[in-house]
Amino acid sequence: MADVVKKACDVKIRRGSKKVACGKDVPNNEPTSVTIGTTKYVMDLCEEHQGALMSALEPYTSVASDVLQRRGNVVRKAIQGKRGAFTTKDVRNWLKQQGREVTETGRLPNDLIQEYVEAHQ
Ligand SMILES: [Zn+2]
Repeated sequence: MADVVKKACDVKIRRGSKKVACGKDVPNNEPTSVTIGTTKYVMDLCEEHQGALMSALEPYTSVASDVLQRRGNVVRKAIQGKRGAFTTKDVRNWLKQQGREVTETGRLPNDLIQEYVEAHQ
């Protein structure tokens, strides 16, 4: 096996009066990448500095997961407001009655939920 060059964290930290590279191991030698818009930033970060990056981004990443969750819930919410709550079990049962293939577990695709919703309007 060829020797793998171990990547080291590039983050500059203050040591005394000068700044030096952190130099800690990069987990799995995998660079960390962050994409903002069309710009991709690739960095060699140790575990500690990955954590620091994540906590610096936390105010924004927490918004991102909220957005994802909201999008997933839009269809459910829309109908819950109008017709009261239904469960994924209701949707699965209905889909089965329609002779459709449905998985017993896992997330139901929104388009199937949408079909259920439209059929029950
Ligand atoms: Zn580091």
